[in-house]
Amino acid sequence: MTAIDLSSITKRFGSLAAVDGVSLSIRSREFVAILGASGCGKTTMLRLLAGLERADAGTISFNGKVVSSPDIHVPPETRDVGVVFQSYALWPHMTVAENAGYPLRVKGLPRADQAQRTRAALEAVELAELSERKPHALSGGQQQRVALARCLTARPGLVLMDEPLANLDMHLRERMLAEFRAFHARAEATIVYITHDQAEAMTIADRIAVMDQGKILQIASPEELYRKPANLTVARFVGVSSMLEGVVERATSNQRALVSVLGRSIEAAMGQSVEAGDAVTLVVRPEEASIRADGMPALVLRSAYLGGRYSVDVEIAGERLKLYADRRTVPGETIPVAILSGFAIATGQRASDQGRMPAGKRFAVA
Ligand code: ATP
Repeated sequence: MTAIDLSSITKRFGSLAAVDGVSLSIRSREFVAILGASGCGKTTMLRLLAGLERADAGTISFNGKVVSSPDIHVPPETRDVGVVFQSYALWPHMTVAENAGYPLRVKGLPRADQAQRTRAALEAVELAELSERKPHALSGGQQQRVALARCLTARPGLVLMDEPLANLDMHLRERMLAEFRAFHARAEATIVYITHDQAEAMTIADRIAVMDQGKILQIASPEELYRKPANLTVARFVGVSSMLEGVVERATSNQRALVSVLGRSIEAAMGQSVEAGDAVTLVVRPEEASIRADGMPALVLRSAYLGGRYSVDVEIAGERLKLYADRRTVPGETIPVAILSGFAIATGQRASDQGRMPAGKRFAVA
């Protein structure tokens, strides 16, 4: 069942469309990350969902009920939404328990219910033992868990998280990511999680919406975004990749084609149908290239140990490529590198339109 439905939502600040005609459906209990670079409109999206901003156009519905349209604006406090901010936003003069129970006090719940629900929420985030502490005597991770507990006590149907881990160190982030997932499993809430960190989004989300300049470029599972990016912006933003110019030799099925890249034929996956002679950019993930005796001569530019394997940057016929290797290489060394597969994105041009192509990329169209 759809929990959240955005239809052609636009929010302008002066002449800038911070959110530009976004349509998006999020299923009930789904964990969706909105991923994008700084300034792409993520926070504005979240504020629109929370009811902290009014949209200029379009509608937002929760569980089939319109909460935002040109004529309707359901205020934040009656949207059944909990927000976990980057800044935690805890009351400094209140204890952990008072902070966590605050939404229940505002709702005027009986005291016994407040105490019971607050205790359960603090136990869920493993903070029951610190319930009488003030925020200043907590670590950053503990403060964020209080913010999470405060969200839990209110039992909202929709939880919005705005870069909740941005202020934490890497070790703590990993722990908190696991806690957020556990929280999601327990809370039966739909979660929308804002982040600019693709690794974080890949770890945590059922689906990721990649945002750029106020628009959603693609919404898909982490695997699909990585394997089948809708365009080069998504490919660059999600995971590590190398981009190589190539030309379609022939389609081998409606999802695959033989592509000529650096003078070799590579069978690549495709997101759209193509014809011989179409120019493409081949997105090659590091695990799709390897050191092989029959590979092309490649000059090692850089090598870094990742633990168990090496990340190697090489140059082949003037093109840069990143691969993983299981042995040490040294800058300046020439190694044989084969590209095993890739994902080809059509540039919308024909090879003949591109003018003079570098020698390594020339090919004969059948
Ligand atoms: P960040 O990751 O840096 O927080 P973001 O993706 O969350 O960025 P938004 O905060 O949604 O981006 O901002 C999107 C665009 O809208 C930016 O260009 C920003 O400067 C602009 N903007 C946001 N809020 C306002 C405002 N109240 N008035 C004017 N412009 C705004």
